[in-house]
Amino acid sequence: MIFDRVVMVDWSGGNDRGARPTKDAIWACIGAAGTTSDPVYLRNRQVAEAWIIQTLTGLRAAGHRVLVGFDLCFAYPKGFATQLVGSEDPLALWDWFAARVTDSPVANNRFDLAGQINARLPGTGPFWFNALQRDIPHLPRKGTDRTGHGLPEKRTADLAVKGSFSPWQLAGAGAVGGQVIMGFPTLARLRRRFDGDLAVWPFQPPDAQIVLAETYFSLLPDLNTPKLHPIKDAAQVMLYARAFSGLAPADMAQLMAIDATPEGWVLGAGAESVLRAAATRDVPPPPLRNDCFAMPQGAHWTPVDTALDHLRTQLGPVTGQEDMPIALSAGRILAQEVTARRSHPPAPNAAVDGYGFAGPAPVGVNRLPLVAGRAAAGQPYGGTVPPGHAIRILTGANLPDGVDTVVLQEDVTTTDTSVAFHGPLKQGANARRAGEDMTAGEMILPAGRKLTPADLATITAAGVGVVTVQKRLRVGVLSTGDELRDAGEPATVGQIFDANRPMLCAVAAGWGYDVVDLGRAPDDRPTLRQILDDSAPHCDVILTSGGASAGDEDHMSALLSGTGSLALWRIAMKPGRPLALGLWRGTPVFGLPGNPVAAMVCAMIFARPALQVMAGGGWPSPEGYLLPADFTKFKKAGRREYLRARIVDGRVHLFASEGSGRVSGLSWATGLVELDDAAQEITAGDLVRFIPFGSFAH
Ligand code: AMP
Ligand code: MG
Repeated sequence: MIFDRVVMVDWSGGNDRGARPTKDAIWACIGAAGTTSDPVYLRNRQVAEAWIIQTLTGLRAAGHRVLVGFDLCFAYPKGFATQLVGSEDPLALWDWFAARVTDSPVANNRFDLAGQINARLPGTGPFWFNALQRDIPHLPRKGTDRTGHGLPEKRTADLAVKGSFSPWQLAGAGAVGGQVIMGFPTLARLRRRFDGDLAVWPFQPPDAQIVLAETYFSLLPDLNTPKLHPIKDAAQVMLYARAFSGLAPADMAQLMAIDATPEGWVLGAGAESVLRAAATRDVPPPPLRNDCFAMPQGAHWTPVDTALDHLRTQLGPVTGQEDMPIALSAGRILAQEVTARRSHPPAPNAAVDGYGFAGPAPVGVNRLPLVAGRAAAGQPYGGTVPPGHAIRILTGANLPDGVDTVVLQEDVTTTDTSVAFHGPLKQGANARRAGEDMTAGEMILPAGRKLTPADLATITAAGVGVVTVQKRLRVGVLSTGDELRDAGEPATVGQIFDANRPMLCAVAAGWGYDVVDLGRAPDDRPTLRQILDDSAPHCDVILTSGGASAGDEDHMSALLSGTGSLALWRIAMKPGRPLALGLWRGTPVFGLPGNPVAAMVCAMIFARPALQVMAGGGWPSPEGYLLPADFTKFKKAGRREYLRARIVDGRVHLFASEGSGRVSGLSWATGLVELDDAAQEITAGDLVRFIPFGSFAH
């Protein structure tokens, strides 16, 4: 039971609701893998039916299996159909209504038809509630005026869902009777149009490419939908598109495995908890394991790559997910892949300003009579351009019928009635093919992708307005040391300024995370413990600097070792003393070296990828470039070195001092040069790997 697309439709029995999106109209939404398109406003049933047909035709052509959910009863209570069409078959009833309902954007005959049906049945009723001024024979205004019609008020399915209305009630707040009558003809026509490719659940086995099912958009009444869309009907189709498309195939199969009766069933009724899980899908990720930072025994100095491999394999996402309008999503990490909702361009269009005609144009002078009018972007030409004729066309305009080729306006001479140019010109020249950039249904960006400004354009062009992203990782930043003073504070010569905190806060903010400035802690174990206790619940991860070694004043490592989760990593790397990694009350703590240069380098090399994985993203490897060294240097084999460097005239220059206390060297540098573990001697002119700071900046 694999539906890779769902279409949710909120039907309506009323008349046209106008051009502006509004409530109580028809709304629809397409869902895929737990994410949704923007909801679509359909002002009346004629527009809605056309949209549904077009959407299903497109999805069928693309090979998708589609579940279409309509929030209208697919059948009436037991006994009704038999009296009207001689059998309980609801599909026969759909055809019966299709033959008798008249409908237009401004008027329909639902009240009169209900009166006529009442007249054929015994007693008074079952239909009631005439919302019109004029009286209608056999249609009572009040439910209590009905007697002796002998039919149940509701179906078993309606009794199974809270707050359902009887289909006999045609109007009044919350009533569904009108939309049922006005829905059957559309359902009947969809069946005919898609024929063998369409099945109606639960009356037919749901193994066709398109399956229609009855839904009820108040199955999960407590779920807070306003955050999805300000208009409730729009938010509801989004919520249920998300829920049904997010169900595991086995769960969907279970939802559909019911003993069907001719009264039908509401898809999901009785299985609300499964649906709720898929709708909210904000399942907290599993906690990190206590030993996630434990290094294999025996490694004395851990190579950088081993340490990185360890982080990559042991860490996982720790944040939940949320839906986000595209405009707000820059820098966020996709929690769900993005699929193009429509092709780009959606139709063939002109790539230049010029004249359109049916190509190709032969060698020599081509002179074509011009048709009146023009095609411009957003102002399509409605007619057909006859063979041998041309039309004025502007960049971005859809190619009119009869046009597949455009000649550049700079290459033509024109009179009032004709255009001339030199051939040859290939068929299709200066025209963009529909879908040449992206095709509807195609996966355009994978889960884990951190969205760039360009991605926002790509996603928007593909017709997607809302993406499911990871919630922002909350990163606490804490400095430790009795000697520290805040920026600009008075300081004695025995004190230094806390340079790490503004730097690390800015780095984490640049990575797209929510930064929690935790201030600084003295070299005092109880105070530090208290700060960690207070901070851990508000942070997904904490970056500390200082106190990470194994000395008397290295309280951070001492405290983490008390939790049983400390791993003191001795990494074969310069700069960098041990990294202290551990969990404090379940929150991972990255104990960076106190030295600003080492703190920065360790943040870029280790914290950046680790945090990105915890934030739900992929593992990033910084982009570096091989460039000739401008220096000669001897180094210890078996140790990776990251040195402050900049490029001058295409060669890599090193900062004058390698001393890692020299903060200003970080500002002098435009990147790091990475010297291989094995390397021992670098001679001027050798190729070395330069990694610009920009490669670590996002
Ligand atoms: P620690 O790891 O605490 O022994 O600190 C190593 C060196 O880094 C010492 O010289 C500290 O004074 C210095 N240091 C520690 N934290 C900071 C900080 N937040 N800003 C500037 N320097 C620091
Ligand atoms: Mg210290």
